[in-house]
Amino acid sequence: MTLLQEKTLGDRLRVDFPILSRDVYEKRLIYFDSAATSQKPHAVLNVLRDYYEQINANVHRGAHALSAEATDAYEGARDKVAGFIKARSRNEIVYTRNATEAINLVAYSWGLNTLKPGDEIIVSVMEHHSNLIPWQIVAQKTGAILKHVQLTETEEFDLEQYKTLLSERTKLVSVVHVSNTLGCINPVEEIIKLAHQYEAKVLIDACQSVPHLPINVQAMDCDWLVASGHKMCAPTGIGFLYGKLDLLESMPPFLGGGEMIQDVFLDSFTCAELPHKFEAGTPAIGEAIALGAAVDYLSGIGMGNIHAYEEELTAYLFKKLAEFPNLRTYGPKPDREGKGRAALAAFNVAGLNASDLSTLLDHEGVAIRSGHHCTQPLHRILGVTGSARSSLYFYNTRDEIDRFVIALKDTIDFFKSVAE
Ligand SMILES: *Cc1c(COP(=O)(O)O)cnc(C)c1O
Repeated sequence: MTLLQEKTLGDRLRVDFPILSRDVYEKRLIYFDSAATSQKPHAVLNVLRDYYEQINANVHRGAHALSAEATDAYEGARDKVAGFIKARSRNEIVYTRNATEAINLVAYSWGLNTLKPGDEIIVSVMEHHSNLIPWQIVAQKTGAILKHVQLTETEEFDLEQYKTLLSERTKLVSVVHVSNTLGCINPVEEIIKLAHQYEAKVLIDACQSVPHLPINVQAMDCDWLVASGHKMCAPTGIGFLYGKLDLLESMPPFLGGGEMIQDVFLDSFTCAELPHKFEAGTPAIGEAIALGAAVDYLSGIGMGNIHAYEEELTAYLFKKLAEFPNLRTYGPKPDREGKGRAALAAFNVAGLNASDLSTLLDHEGVAIRSGHHCTQPLHRILGVTGSARSSLYFYNTRDEIDRFVIALKDTIDFFKSVAE
């Protein structure tokens, strides 16, 4: 036994993130809004800068050394992403601007061209707007019908009710892996297996899982999976769509233009091979390369280690929040080891407005989100217009949770004192 306390993963890694040493209102920043976007480590920022300083050129037009180097780095990053989620082939990874664009790609390319009147699309009530609206548009245009998976008593995905929605009419199930509001981790393997019994396709919104958990798309057996780079230590402007190869082969292009073609005539064109068929126009080259660097960085830490450390933070955060008498969290409670949910807590304090709460906390240097978190229908079902949300990542620490809790207590006391 040693008397020296070992440094936690968060203590060791937070120095990699330059922004975490800045102050806000003369208080050291506590960034608890990683579910909205993550911070970026030196390793990613340096790669982005190096790209623009050393190799900036357009890709796939290899008439010169820079273009060849840029293409190699851009395509190399695709290999990294494919490896990160255990895709069978690099050609199953399509770069997009973000997860929203990836879902729209599937909606417009597959949905509009496949769905017929009376076909059914199943989504859950906890979906992010990005996984609701594209399917509402598709349903309107095709006559397909939207069905919704409800919540259980513990505010989780109701698997039993989901089973009653499935039928031969089900053509698509599009659900979130980890809810950005409830923090529940949905049983996606079971959801997918059940859908496949009816030959329905399944899209997984993995925005809140790819940054936090080890992901294996082959074991999961999803047909598509989407994620955003900016929530996994990469820059904004880059995300990806994973799709099974034969499915992507069968889908028509989404956007037309340069990069996605083989031959062009005045009145027709032939498509480029996958994945370029879906990457029209000059892509976010530096950002894609930086996404590759983010994947290297996360892999270097180990997704299993990140998940285990986040469970510790989850247990601690929920234990602390349970000490507030009038505070209610949403979604399932973690067990004592912090298992069973994500490291985020959406909550409300009775009698207080969530946005007033976040404004006052901001003045204490604590950045949390308030509002509907792009899950307005879910909040309506929960009976509130919004909530406050603290969302953590591996660069956060117990010490920050302590400081957040003190600031929260002071804030609640302040509101109580002005109400009296
Ligand atoms: C953030 C998020 C999205 C949308 O991601 P964008 O980067 O805005 O496209 C979709 N679903 C979930 C669960 C999210 O957390």
